[in-house]
Amino acid sequence: MVTNVEVLIIGAGPSGCVAAAHLINEGVNVKIIEKNKFPRFVIGESLLPRCMDHFEEVGLLEPLQKIGFEIKRGARFLKNDVVCNFDFSKKFTEGWDWTWQVPRADFDSVLVNEIIKKGADVQFEQEVIDVKINSNGKSVIDVKDKSGEVYTINANFIIDSSGYGRVLPRILGLDKPSELPKHSSIFTHVKDINRPEGEEGTLITFDVLDTNTWFWVIPFSNGNTSIGFVSTTEYIDSFKGNNTERLKEMLKLSKYYYNRFKDVEFSFEPKCIKNYSKSVSQIYGKGYALTGNSAEFLDPVFSSGVTFATESALAAAKLVVKEVNGETADWEKDYDSYIKEGVGVFSSYVKEWYTGNLQTLFFHRPENPEVKRQICAVLAGYVWDKTNPFVKKHNRAISTLAHMLNMMENEKANL
Ligand code: FAD
Repeated sequence: MVTNVEVLIIGAGPSGCVAAAHLINEGVNVKIIEKNKFPRFVIGESLLPRCMDHFEEVGLLEPLQKIGFEIKRGARFLKNDVVCNFDFSKKFTEGWDWTWQVPRADFDSVLVNEIIKKGADVQFEQEVIDVKINSNGKSVIDVKDKSGEVYTINANFIIDSSGYGRVLPRILGLDKPSELPKHSSIFTHVKDINRPEGEEGTLITFDVLDTNTWFWVIPFSNGNTSIGFVSTTEYIDSFKGNNTERLKEMLKLSKYYYNRFKDVEFSFEPKCIKNYSKSVSQIYGKGYALTGNSAEFLDPVFSSGVTFATESALAAAKLVVKEVNGETADWEKDYDSYIKEGVGVFSSYVKEWYTGNLQTLFFHRPENPEVKRQICAVLAGYVWDKTNPFVKKHNRAISTLAHMLNMMENEKANL
């Protein structure tokens, strides 16, 4: 059996769905191959306001709004007794000032069901196992179906949104070691029976335990909460036993949350993702584009994963539409440079988080409201706004200011 399609999308996560939605809206023939049956678990539950722009633009916002996911209006960072609250309504850049914190199984199902309603041909429980891209950019894709049969798809273009499946990076040899330090994470969901009333119970929080180690608490509107630790792979590996035993032991590290979670049952055996940062040598080529996690994953600390997945998906889909319409698509400028610019900003923030410099800015008191507004815009995902000094000078602004604050503290201590 051979099928012919204009665009083949690998993976039906947020990246694949946003790309598909745009292509369908523009009348492009598209097929999605998805390895799993939905709903399926995936981590990545705290969204950023910027991704609301993408869902709105492709017509996926309305069905999501009907679900009643927990509203996320900012993010709270704790370190010892110091609290740093970011409120998206006080950010430097114009744009959405709220988003959601979501169980991804439910969230991703809404997205995929909606694109099926729009007319997308989505094949679940089928796996892309091989891809050959010809010199003219057209490709031949081998797909294994549920029964183990292999069939072929001919596509004029491939969007690889396969997340950690990293289909094209593996097949085309595009994997590149990440520049970020090796970090790992261990996490689960709990039935949050000790959840406090009011705002405290719904706040998304990052409890910073030391420069490398932090604990996330992401409450959902269904009464469950996602909890997880991030640290160096070495430190995570130093906890022994099965993942339940390791996570229970780690919970003792969070003084703020220990009582809330110490006796709750985990909804599933905690999962551990080791050395999660991924990178590639190129994010597009003749006949293909990598979007979302398949292209790059930095770190969960600023919740940029889904937003980057939808941003890259939409940018790639727009260029594909141009090609389909016979126009010239400038992939180097409008995809590679554009995406790398945003990734570059987040990458600086992640690096400066783990040097401790950004933590100095977050937890120094008194706060500087203007600096906070500018950083808040980055944390909301508005990382292309060059009028924001904390975007424009992302690779220097944080270290320079942290250095000044540290000097001031040292001077005070020496008085
Ligand atoms: P995915 O959502 O992973 O979807 C990829 C799809 O491709 C899957 O459904 C998979 O089944 C399918 N697939 C894979 N291989 C194949 C194949 N061979 N054939 C067909 N289909 C295939 N991001 C956030 O925004 N907020 C967070 O709070 C956050 N926390 C995180 C915490 C941790 C510990 C980690 C590691 C990541 C976190 N992320 C977070 C990142 C987030 O998980 C991803 O960035 C996001 O899910 C990427 O979306 P995607 O559509 O690219 O891929």
